[in-house]
Amino acid sequence: MNSRLTDPDRDCTLSGCRSYAADAHNIAPGAISNEALQVVRSLREAGYEAYLVGGCVRDLLLGHEPKDFDVSTNALPAQVHALFRRSRIVGRRFQIVHVRSGRDVIEVSTFRGHHSPDFDEDGDGDEHTDAGSAVRAESGMLLRDNVFGTVEEDALRRDFSVNGLYYDPDTHCVLDFCTGVEDLQARVLRVIGDPEKRYQEDPVRMLRAVRFAAKLGFSIEETALAAILKCRNLLVQIPAARMFDEVLKLLLGGRGEETFVLLDRYGLFAPLFPDTAAALERVPEDRSLLLHALRNSDERIAVGKPVTPAFLYAAMLWPALRHRLQALLEREQLPILAALHEAIPEVISRQVRSITIPRRFATPMREIWELQQRLITRRQPQKLAAHPRFRAAYDFVLLREQSGESLQDAGDWWTRFQTGEEMPAAAERSP
Ligand code: ATP
Ligand code: MG
Repeated sequence: MNSRLTDPDRDCTLSGCRSYAADAHNIAPGAISNEALQVVRSLREAGYEAYLVGGCVRDLLLGHEPKDFDVSTNALPAQVHALFRRSRIVGRRFQIVHVRSGRDVIEVSTFRGHHSPDFDEDGDGDEHTDAGSAVRAESGMLLRDNVFGTVEEDALRRDFSVNGLYYDPDTHCVLDFCTGVEDLQARVLRVIGDPEKRYQEDPVRMLRAVRFAAKLGFSIEETALAAILKCRNLLVQIPAARMFDEVLKLLLGGRGEETFVLLDRYGLFAPLFPDTAAALERVPEDRSLLLHALRNSDERIAVGKPVTPAFLYAAMLWPALRHRLQALLEREQLPILAALHEAIPEVISRQVRSITIPRRFATPMREIWELQQRLITRRQPQKLAAHPRFRAAYDFVLLREQSGESLQDAGDWWTRFQTGEEMPAAAERSP
């Protein structure tokens, strides 16, 4: 963390704001994407306010390379869209504008304002103001959050104080409306406002707390943590499609193993993967496969190798599938392949109630599972090795063995087979 972050200037004209001038922090202007700077400049030239905001400012202060750059402005989405030729308005729940610049996409969001329950005069959960609209469910969850406001208000609508920092590229000042800089130095994730209310508005914030805790190595502030234990079941309200995106960020963000451990510790894993969580209660050893899968993906990501959600989901749901398979084999005395064909669709259809699995990932996931038994029996190995999903299925065999399953040395056998050390003729015998 930046040791040069010194006392803020006191002359910031924005209310409740502490400003850190260029000599009080170590953000090198060269570390900021030119595309993002250009977006801020264009908005300002058109007469609007605009800042860099959120994760990019946090990461710059921490000396990390930001994953992406977000811009916040008082221009309304339609005004932003009108200003940039290569832009489009996206989102309904939370409208923002994607501005394309070179190969980058800069997310431009309009300052969000306070919600006034008084605006919901007809009691239908809709709040309408001159500056936009919001829709709130009875549970307190914001189904739409498009009430616009000032930069001060915008800061208070963000999730964590360390994500509520703004950077002014003209003055090079960092603006802090909460306790963002202090919390960054203390390496703590503090929810802005009342944690319970903020989780009720958007339960995904609980997952974000864990994601940032794992990614940044920060602790979650005490009341923010206590509120997770109270609110974790609210996650079931989140649409399954949004959950898919969030879960990828959690588990394939490069710190998947640590993230899983924290999710599990704070009771957030069960709402995401209920059948797997139940299976792990009964067979705790199956946890090892999940940990190995996540560690392998983390290692691949660290060296720039690709990872696929299909493989990850195959692993995350494996304990649930095994449990279902065992029940079918014991109770109905089905042959293994018949049991597999019955169990797979059941496990998937139960899982997609919480998290969508798009077909482009569900299909290869099924194939990885379906090939497992064939890889163990090793009949017609040439044909099997030509299957488009062979490589992933073989990796899955290795993963299972790595995590303690005994599969008649299938992993080693297939490794030798691929290097030509195992003769197909010998392989035609089933072991
Ligand atoms: P990452 O490094 O993963 O991109 P980030 O902090 O930039 O982290 P984004 O999802 O890109 O996260 O969001 C950008 C900013 O928008 C956040 O820093 C935060 O200020 C705000 N934000 C995002 N999601 C929420 C949310 N659910 N509730 C409140 N504020 C949010
Ligand atoms: Mg970001």
